[in-house]
Amino acid sequence: MALLAVLAGCAAVDRQPAEFERGAEADGAMVAVAHPLAAEAGREMLEAGGSAADAAIAAQLVLNLVEPQSSGIGGGGFALHYHGDDGGITAYDGRETAPAEIGPELFLDDDGGPVGYREAVVGGRSVGVPGLLRMLEVLHADHGVLPWEDLFQPAIHLARDGFTVTPRLHGMIAGDPWLADQPDTRAYFFTADGAPLPVGHRLRNPEFAEVLQQVAEGGVDRFYHGAIAESIVSTVRHAEGNPGLLHPDDLAAYRAVRRAPVCRPYRGHTVCGMPPPTSGGVAVLQILGILEHFDSDVLDPRTVDGAHLLAEVSRLAFADRERFLADPDFSPVPVAALLDPDYLAGRAGCVDPERSMGEAWPGLPAWLIGAPDHREVAATSHLSVVDFDGNAVSMTTSIEQAFGSRLMVHGFLLNNQLTDFSFRPEDEEGRPVANRPEPGKRPRSSMAPMLILDEEGAFRAVVGSPGGPRIIGFVAQRVVALLDAGLSINEAVAMPNVVNRNGPTELEEGRSVESIADALRRRGHTVEIVPLTSGLHGIEAVPGSGALRGAADPRREGAALGLPPRGL
Ligand code: GLU
Repeated sequence: MALLAVLAGCAAVDRQPAEFERGAEADGAMVAVAHPLAAEAGREMLEAGGSAADAAIAAQLVLNLVEPQSSGIGGGGFALHYHGDDGGITAYDGRETAPAEIGPELFLDDDGGPVGYREAVVGGRSVGVPGLLRMLEVLHADHGVLPWEDLFQPAIHLARDGFTVTPRLHGMIAGDPWLADQPDTRAYFFTADGAPLPVGHRLRNPEFAEVLQQVAEGGVDRFYHGAIAESIVSTVRHAEGNPGLLHPDDLAAYRAVRRAPVCRPYRGHTVCGMPPPTSGGVAVLQILGILEHFDSDVLDPRTVDGAHLLAEVSRLAFADRERFLADPDFSPVPVAALLDPDYLAGRAGCVDPERSMGEAWPGLPAWLIGAPDHREVAATSHLSVVDFDGNAVSMTTSIEQAFGSRLMVHGFLLNNQLTDFSFRPEDEEGRPVANRPEPGKRPRSSMAPMLILDEEGAFRAVVGSPGGPRIIGFVAQRVVALLDAGLSINEAVAMPNVVNRNGPTELEEGRSVESIADALRRRGHTVEIVPLTSGLHGIEAVPGSGALRGAADPRREGAALGLPPRGL
């Protein structure tokens, strides 16, 4: 069918120049991450005999400094670890939790309606208990090789000596409507004259270096108890105009959670993701489980047929996501039912290969009610590492929106992750929404760090992306690109994005997929051509050769760095 479509002139194949891809190849180890300095920190750890976990932690700490708008110790994240020795996988949940004092009305105004977006995000109300450092602590305890303190050195040195403001960071500062309103962010991100820091400016962060130094020497308790914790609490509780309810006990009580990954077969491979409280893993696996009912050779997302199927199947996954996915510690999430092969086969029956279904409906009995997530923001960061022993880390971290709550403590930003809860705790019929705010609860995420194993259960690839709910589409598309379209990780990461969140089909602006818009419209899609700035960072084992290929998303500023085998 794909060939016929091409002959009929309604299919397009992307013609981006090869230099649009940004990747590396090596036989020993690999790190792919959103900033070259973070990639270097990861490589330094691997060269020093560190594991994938060590490299991921060091790279993440540098990311906090050099890509401060996206992720950091004031936020949270999820990580998958593949154990090179026995092929096991552990999922680490460092998602933020809601303070004990909040209630379901957290984001409601005096009239019972949802508050405005700025009012929700900026200030203390949206700040969840940061989870990142506790998660990194557990990851290091399980899989670290180097001393904890060593992992902090690259970030500490860069924070003291300074790093250069990149075009992307400058653009994010200049484009943010609220960053200059808060005294601490204004002082850090703007010149004395109030201009956004220019590209090339050397930015030092001695306060952050001091925090890192303390946590390096004294462990993560230094963050969750004592002076640093008190500063976080005080910043949140005294945020001008919009205070939050964080308490020192919330920080002291925070625990990262080891969880079993969610996995399912796809085209002879095994694809694994993060379980709830993120919707990412389940939604990506649902998309794949439905797509498996269609021929592999029609699934190139750059063609009309491929984009149509991907969009239709994504609708179905998003309909279930909205209704069923939330923190499993608070309301049961029917993960097994959502991934049941017979259920997914039934869902595949909803897809007409020639015609859009329009809005999709959830497929299971409505025993749990979720609420739509209308917002779309782009912060967050994904990094991938494979070490010399074949261990792999796929880690997505976030402070939610770019620059999070815009509150800064000791040189790092606090998240606004609580806005990932449904603002309305009840639906129109008064039934509770699964993802409503509740004390101690983790807000539903879309983050989807993924891991693919080959037919023998050996490592095949890791990939993930920022992008809010679009993460699900970005990541599912890359699994399809690797396993159906047979692309390399570099080609897969660089290919144009096609996304559907159970609404319009979004095609990436300025890319070859614009040319399939009319053909999709004729099939009933509402098409929107928009910038789709994924931040995919992935690594694959090249089938048959054993070499590693790393890819950094050319839409951002990252890098993939490879290392030759040990001793070479
Ligand atoms: N806060 C979002 C989530 O957890 C991620 C935001 C983003 O990727 O920009 O799903």
